[in-house]
Amino acid sequence: MLSDLEIAKNCNLESIETIAEKLGIESSDLIPYGKDKAKVSLDVLTKNNATKPADLVLVTSINPTPAGEGKSTVTVGLAQALQQLGKSVSCALREPSLGPVMGIKGGATGGGYSQVVPMESINLHFTGDIHAITAANNALSALIDNHIFQGNALNIDIRRITWKRVVDLNDRALREVIIGLGGVKQGIPREDGFTITVASEIMAVLCLADSYDDLKLRLGRMIIGYTVDDEPVTVKDLAVEGALTLLLKEAFQPNLVQTLEGVPAFIHGGPFANIAHGCNSVIATKMASKVSDIVVTEAGFGADLGAEKFLNIKSRMAELNPKAVVVVATIRALKMHGGVPVADLDKENVEALLDGLSNLKKHTETIEAFELPYVVAINQFTSDTKKEVEALTSWCQTEGIAVAETNVWKDGGRGGLALGKEVLKLLEEKQTRFKPLYPLDASLKEKIEKVATTVYGAAGVDYNKDAEEMIHRLTQLGFDNLPICMAKTQYSLSDDPTLLGRPKDFRLMIREIRPSIGAGFIVCLTGDVLTMPGLPKQPAALQMDIGADLEAIGLF
Ligand code: ADP
Repeated sequence: MLSDLEIAKNCNLESIETIAEKLGIESSDLIPYGKDKAKVSLDVLTKNNATKPADLVLVTSINPTPAGEGKSTVTVGLAQALQQLGKSVSCALREPSLGPVMGIKGGATGGGYSQVVPMESINLHFTGDIHAITAANNALSALIDNHIFQGNALNIDIRRITWKRVVDLNDRALREVIIGLGGVKQGIPREDGFTITVASEIMAVLCLADSYDDLKLRLGRMIIGYTVDDEPVTVKDLAVEGALTLLLKEAFQPNLVQTLEGVPAFIHGGPFANIAHGCNSVIATKMASKVSDIVVTEAGFGADLGAEKFLNIKSRMAELNPKAVVVVATIRALKMHGGVPVADLDKENVEALLDGLSNLKKHTETIEAFELPYVVAINQFTSDTKKEVEALTSWCQTEGIAVAETNVWKDGGRGGLALGKEVLKLLEEKQTRFKPLYPLDASLKEKIEKVATTVYGAAGVDYNKDAEEMIHRLTQLGFDNLPICMAKTQYSLSDDPTLLGRPKDFRLMIREIRPSIGAGFIVCLTGDVLTMPGLPKQPAALQMDIGADLEAIGLF
């Protein structure tokens, strides 16, 4: 099989105007970035208001292996299959961050014959959205330091500035820095740090805002630190929300590209799935819903994080009404949950697979708790054996769970026809309205405990002293009516990445609470969550080069 990059290079891309035409988007609403990418004017959202919004399908997964379960691949493949079945369909995905692209081998544009293209561009600088977010984030940092340098009228406590600088790279050396060194003319020295751009609150804000006015309001509400009297200081206090909105003007417009089979794909925004909600922008999902009959979208990490936040945060905030869920499972991950070490996942082991099904079962119960219909997609690898696939399919049948063998990585849309038909069946047969897991007026602790017990299967929740104090503080400030955004390992249902399968009798430990008031959620951190990753010993960058024809080499 060819590499992802080779497959992508061999594909004949349609012009972006042709892709837009499929959606009825007029060329006057298209802002082309070259021949195969375009931004789309938000005017599209207010045209033809009589059309009914698309059926929204969420792709999520079980707790993955370190290589990923193939959610993006299945999202693209399912959209291609639905197109082959004659449907008007588009997909809505996240933009890749440069940090992981240069660090870990594996793209964020799907894989095999189910990719979005032009993959080199999407994986590198694309239309510059992430760079614009970096600029906006760091403009705010510069404005904060300048405010302090110019007399600090707001009385900001320089030891309690929570706003950090960002760069969209994995650069562990920047986690903790001291700025303002060099004497009186260089500013006030203080401790600062860098996070990766996709962890900036501005990314989450851009992804949850539904208009420019809303974007500005949310940017204004972001807390950058505290005064000497411990009162929160916001961007509005600094009066720079207008400047930040201006810096994000183009970045706020959704990007349109295509899949290998010419399905329109909106790729816009890419917040971290731990300290943020891990979904593409609301504005892109709404635009896709406006111009197609079915939209396939995904949320980062497994259903315990991605689907939970997609439903409790994004869908509730944006009043989206997802109609069906696809739970991606691989035989490899199921064997891992049944106790097989990663190095042995290629070997047949039906017994371990059956043991690992407890993980899949828990995730299907979570989707049931939201009252949504679902189908399990078996994302097939060449190492899967007939016996293993039969064991998984017959388990699903015994449990009354809809299941479809899915070969979209190897065969593109054709390999997803069975899944496509199951999804259409769910959309036709089940008339549902999803139910969030908790009401917004529950206390912060009630919300945390509801997610911990219902979604993770925890016996209870413990809080350290700082977390207790912050919950109290945020409640006093009136922020307890916001949804919660759990930051937890993606590898286990628990907060311990080594507990595989379906851990029982564990308690979840909340170590820190961080307000993301602009985004509109309260982040609850469980384990150590790195917001500035490091590079591995053999970074993917070592394979990359540029060819004589200026083509990318070694990009997956
Ligand atoms: P996720 O969205 O769950 O993180 P991706 O769709 O990005 O997963 O896939 C992760 C990696 O695994 C990609 O490099 C992709 O090409 C590869 N991959 C996905 N599905 C398959 C498959 N069925 N066989 C082989 N490789 C796959």
